[in-house]
Amino acid sequence: MFEIGIQLRQERGPENVFDYTLGNPDVEPPAAVIEALRRVVAENRPRSHGYMPNAGFPEVRQTIARRLAERTGLPFTDADVIMTVGAAGAINTVLKSILDPGDEVIVLNPYFPEYRFYIENHSGRVVPVETDERFQPDVGRIAAAITPRTKAILLNSPNNPTGAAYPAEVLRELNAIVREPVIVISDEPYRPLTYDGLQLPETQTLIERSVVAWSWSKAMAIAGERVGYLAISPRLAEAADLRNGCTFANRTLGYVNAPAIWQLVVAQAPDATVDVGAYQAKRDLLCDALNAMGYQAPRPQGSYYVFPKTPIADDVAFIRILQREGILAVPGAGFGRGGYMRLSITIPRSDMERSLPGFERALRAAGKRR
Ligand code: PLP
Repeated sequence: MFEIGIQLRQERGPENVFDYTLGNPDVEPPAAVIEALRRVVAENRPRSHGYMPNAGFPEVRQTIARRLAERTGLPFTDADVIMTVGAAGAINTVLKSILDPGDEVIVLNPYFPEYRFYIENHSGRVVPVETDERFQPDVGRIAAAITPRTKAILLNSPNNPTGAAYPAEVLRELNAIVREPVIVISDEPYRPLTYDGLQLPETQTLIERSVVAWSWSKAMAIAGERVGYLAISPRLAEAADLRNGCTFANRTLGYVNAPAIWQLVVAQAPDATVDVGAYQAKRDLLCDALNAMGYQAPRPQGSYYVFPKTPIADDVAFIRILQREGILAVPGAGFGRGGYMRLSITIPRSDMERSLPGFERALRAAGKRR
């Protein structure tokens, strides 16, 4: 898609290319984050640029643990928090710690394609399980997919690519089927990006055997700074072993530790979040326009992504039709679900507005019009 984007921009001029492919924050970080960054740099504390304990600065982990304890009602301490290189670093760290070659990890289809690499990086086997028609976990199917080799179930709510958010009942049902040695790895970089005032349930309150992979990449629009954490539930019987394994893996995978300056920054404003209003307005603009044309584009409950059905079953063919209109989208097949496409609402609003006639022409070209 990247190469096609470059080629289309050269052929048509950049103003005539509408790139819906990237989930890169298009807003600036909240003022509180930039102020915290200025303070940390001005303060220039001794040893703030050096190595540190592999799990991160102890006082930063304490701050995070206090917030987790308030949110979940669980007795989190700094020992349960490992600062990581984003959510990707957190997931790789925990997978490295728990997987032996051939062990299985359940992912819910459609899923973020990098999960396959993360799991296979550590000699694990990906076991995709289909979600239901609203892209919610089907707990019966998940239970049926668990084998003696299953080590983890990887969740992502709000979801990339579907925008679905999982309610408390689903997490409770999942809790009932998760038994040692299986753990739930809940990948939550989009947690604060929910729409229509939706409050998400606390995963670790509801799922006893869980770890959360969190990052501030999307919450603070600092995806390039690479800072997040792994929160290991104190209720896990093997919590001490897992903490040790993850602390070791964080180093030996080559991350060594999460970026020092950014640990100090996020600890000063851990809850600062971008204004989701602009994303919600763009979500509404795009979904309303597409649905009026005759697409089926349900409103995402969270994340950056709209995941409409493609008007023809061959999503890759439809993506090519959109490209003729200068519109770049990701085929659902890339996430394990053909017949859909992913559109990121991080595209500038003016580009979104100017792209709409192209969506209408593409629908006509595909031979479908209401
Ligand atoms: N998980 C999902 C579902 C994502 O969409 C992304 C990034 O887009 C990541 C994990 C990686 O997040 P981070 O940049 O914090 O490592």
